Amino acid sequence: MLHAITFDLDDTLWDNAGVMERTEHGHYRWLLAALGAWQSARSEPPLALGEAALNQADGLADYLVRRQRLAVEVPERRGDFTWLRLRALEEQLEACGLDRSAAVEWAAAAMNEFHHLRLQVTPHPEADALLAALAGRYRLAAITNGNIQLACQPLAHHFPVAIAAGEILAPKPDPRAFLTALDRLQTRPEHAMHVGDSWAEDIVPAAELGMHAAWVSERADRPLPPGVQRIAHIRELPELLAWLEASPRRPARRGAGPR
Ligand SMILES: [Mg+2]
Repeated sequence: MLHAITFDLDDTLWDNAGVMERTEHGHYRWLLAALGAWQSARSEPPLALGEAALNQADGLADYLVRRQRLAVEVPERRGDFTWLRLRALEEQLEACGLDRSAAVEWAAAAMNEFHHLRLQVTPHPEADALLAALAGRYRLAAITNGNIQLACQPLAHHFPVAIAAGEILAPKPDPRAFLTALDRLQTRPEHAMHVGDSWAEDIVPAAELGMHAAWVSERADRPLPPGVQRIAHIRELPELLAWLEASPRRPARRGAGPR
């Protein structure tokens, strides 16, 4: 019945909150330090944001405001977080007095640091063996709204198909992110399952397309539409798949009941 499984990444195959915090602060701290050293070697005064010297807290707040404004001004790029960050940093550095070419270069360097830090994710201990076992039976894909570099992430070798939904300008819940994955997996929605932690971005769009869905959540506070099951952690996925494969027409999950 099932031929393919698509996976969300952040907060499905690893916990992401600490990674984003470290990445957000880390790449900006790196930029200010590297830029400061470069300017002082050239005997230039420090860059100023408005009246005050460019600093970590105010600079990050200004950077966020610029990203939010750009996402409104260029709505098709609202989910392409790397593009938004690059443009926002270029703008900010130019506003602080760097010339255009230096601003472009330093924004790109900061984003290199961003991607380096963003890749420091720690997959759940079960994830590697789980995906290896599933790959023997199903075609696997990753579909993410995040801007982790998909070819470099630690579980990349398990995913012959990997969709950066924001970069194809179709961030989830846009069905095109899922349809692109299904097309590349050469399967149909009813023969695929999506596994993800976000009700709105993973589960609702997958279910609307007619995919099976496994909601990775500890919340048991909402009714589940047909084809959707809840698991508290990806380690429960093999049991769910075994149950589905053994009894595809059974209306409710045996033992635990509808979850
Ligand atoms: Mg997620």
